[in-house]
Amino acid sequence: AKSRGKGKSEVFDRAMHDRASERLHLETGLRRAVEHGELYLAYQPIFRLADRTTVSFEALARWRHPVRGLLSPAVFIPVAEASGLILALGDWVLRECCKRMRLWLDEHPGAADMSIAANISAKQLMQGDLVARVARILDETGLDPRHLKLEVTESVLMENAELAVDILGRLRDLGIRLAVDDFGTGYSSLSYLRRFPVDALKIDRSFVSNMDVNPEKFEIVRAIVQLGRALNLDVCAEGVETEAELAGLVSLGCGLGQGYLYARPLPADEARAFIPPPGEE
Ligand code: C2E
Ligand code: CA
Ligand code: CA
Ligand code: CA
Repeated sequence: AKSRGKGKSEVFDRAMHDRASERLHLETGLRRAVEHGELYLAYQPIFRLADRTTVSFEALARWRHPVRGLLSPAVFIPVAEASGLILALGDWVLRECCKRMRLWLDEHPGAADMSIAANISAKQLMQGDLVARVARILDETGLDPRHLKLEVTESVLMENAELAVDILGRLRDLGIRLAVDDFGTGYSSLSYLRRFPVDALKIDRSFVSNMDVNPEKFEIVRAIVQLGRALNLDVCAEGVETEAELAGLVSLGCGLGQGYLYARPLPADEARAFIPPPGEE
């Protein structure tokens, strides 16, 4: 039994070592990636469920790795967070999407009421002097703040709710919009939710997926939509993949959605085809 225990711990050490070197490897690569233009943003349309009109885009980071191919943010964002690189990466993401929105506004009159949404990580929110950074990027890119939306996950907000209330308030004062991401997974206290100066709730995909055949999910989505209505917030369902899910969401009065049913995250030149023609509002 003893030798088996030792064997196990060797296997464990080895696995730890592999993970550590994988992380270090990615971290080194990520530094280079930002400088060498290996990162890009994919844009996923967010649409009004009732008439399937695009109202916004969410910017999602992608890494075109020279050896490993396309890497998911689920792989490299945690590495960026742990290493502190997230601040530089986050600035890059914000600058890219502000530039993109600015360009689309110039080229497409139909984009006049649209916004672009960027994801903000825990470190960016809590340690990064985010308000000053966002203000500077808006200034540099000349984007009207009302076209920018920031998404922060519910769990990040609840980790340090008092501080979050303060930072969100100062971001709001810049004139940008805010959304609580992955809502339903982070145990918000309702009193805090009321105090967060946000504009929208995004229902986590785990509740939307198969909600038409899973009564518990259906009821959770119903509760979130009602909560949004009570607090006067937009509600956006993530990960809408089927017509049945869409019909369920519409029956509950959910206003907005995003998902493969309508469009996948797309490179900028393909995403722009989803900007509505002028005068359709
Ligand atoms: P998220 O913010 O919850 O983003 C939504 C994720 O759901 C995206 O995954 C998107 O591609 C995926 N998705 C959208 N519609 C569907 C659908 O119908 N079905 C399925 N199965 N998935 C769908 P992605 O792009 O892999 O991003 C994963 C996470 O990485 C994001 O989750 C976000 O938390 C994080 N992330 C992405 N870009 C950034 C970034 O620039 N900064 C930060 N801090 N985090 C980012
Ligand atoms: Ca998001
Ligand atoms: Ca989300
Ligand atoms: Ca999610």
